[in-house]
Amino acid sequence: MLCIASGLIMLIFTPWAISDILLGRVALFLSDLYFLVMAGLVVLLARQSLLRVASLLFTIAAFVGVVGLSVVVDVPSATLPRATQIYLIPLTVVAYFLLQYEVRNLRTAVPVLNLVAFVVLATTSSSFGFSPMVSEAERGLANNFASLLAAIALYAALTVMHREARESTALERAFGVAIMNGEIEAYLQPQCTAEGALIGAEALMRWRHPTRGYISPAEFIPMAEHSGLIVPAGEQLLGKVCELLNRWEGDAALSHVRVSVNVSPMQLLAAESAERLLSRVSSNLAARKVLKFELTESMFVEDFEMVHGRMMQIRASGIAIALDDFGTGFSSLNYLRRLPLDQLKVDQAFVKDLPAAPDASKIARTIVQLGKDLGLEVVAEGTETAEQVRALQEMGCEIFQGFFFSRPIPAEAFEALAQELHDGTRSLRPAAVPSC
Ligand code: C2E
Ligand code: MG
Ligand code: MG
Repeated sequence: MLCIASGLIMLIFTPWAISDILLGRVALFLSDLYFLVMAGLVVLLARQSLLRVASLLFTIAAFVGVVGLSVVVDVPSATLPRATQIYLIPLTVVAYFLLQYEVRNLRTAVPVLNLVAFVVLATTSSSFGFSPMVSEAERGLANNFASLLAAIALYAALTVMHREARESTALERAFGVAIMNGEIEAYLQPQCTAEGALIGAEALMRWRHPTRGYISPAEFIPMAEHSGLIVPAGEQLLGKVCELLNRWEGDAALSHVRVSVNVSPMQLLAAESAERLLSRVSSNLAARKVLKFELTESMFVEDFEMVHGRMMQIRASGIAIALDDFGTGFSSLNYLRRLPLDQLKVDQAFVKDLPAAPDASKIARTIVQLGKDLGLEVVAEGTETAEQVRALQEMGCEIFQGFFFSRPIPAEAFEALAQELHDGTRSLRPAAVPSC
């Protein structure tokens, strides 16, 4: 959708940009350039899989651009009404589609804003104080094209939306079948000290699609959260983790390993699913204190008191709590103080530019310090290099998770790894790099 919409914008504005620069109309050329740069940037971001940023940029920048064109360039006259606002109709459809997984306020506000702007611009003949920048003849030509191009854009948007909706329904169906067949897999990513001593692991959900093979969690987790399937899938994953932990009891290589499980807001907010989640954890596991739930900050925008209550319940059941992706959401230091937390996970966004970027260093240092001051364990996510580990260690961080030590691996491979670590035949810390 993003690439098609950006392609259409390039198609529309390239001829205008050429003719405006040839005619020396600098102001108009700059407005054409605005759309071309925006479309180019969106394609660039989309190609780097930064789909969320690309979607937000497209929907907001295109809205601002079309409203700007309608008000400043397409100034209505007695004989020729304004017409550029017609582009807001296909843009409404595109915004509705691109923002479907955003928080409710945003996914509703942007399409509604497009429609309100369309109605206002279509029903007022006011020039808002701007004087015409192009001749009547040119406006007439552009206006005729506007209707045609907007109709084509609307048709293209609806076609893409229909196709993707069909595909996502098929994906949802396949995911539902996988849950019914018990096919949700738990991969484990080790968490260790800087020297490579195994402390714990994060359980990460994996799903092998019958024809497409393993699908990235970045694709199926948002779909599962949106459809509600994350509730049964998360329960199944937790069930599998509990089985592993039970099996590891008494095993010299594995009994000390603590496993974290990601819990989505939906799993916790409904009383019934929260109860079911807790009922999966046996008292034996609770007593061994080897299970942890990872919650994200996004949970606290819903109903703080209720989430707080649920967290107290989790803690009372013997399950520890980690705050995942800290610093990327709706951080409020006030709630941090009040929450029953055991662990703070520094998001990989703050780790990836270490140690070179001074800003990233300052933020990471502050987060580590904050966690320690609050008496929490601090885990650095996404550690990929020895330099990052060294920098974080120097800041006071003691636990690490990242590709530098190990990628997420299947449960059986994790068990074999833990055994080799215990036997001393393998190290989690890459051999070529001296320990800090
Ligand atoms: P997360 O909970 O923050 O998990 C960490 C993610 O970072 C994992 O991605 C992991 O593979 C990745 N990662 C770990 N070390 C590195 C590194 O050194 N470099 C880089 N670039 N990435 C690293 P994954 O498995 O793709 O999961 C993505 C997200 O999906 C998770 O982020 C979590 O929010 C969600 N997710 C995964 N499993 C579950 C689950 O069982 N339930 C729920 N609700 N969400 C899950
Ligand atoms: Mg996590
Ligand atoms: Mg995380």
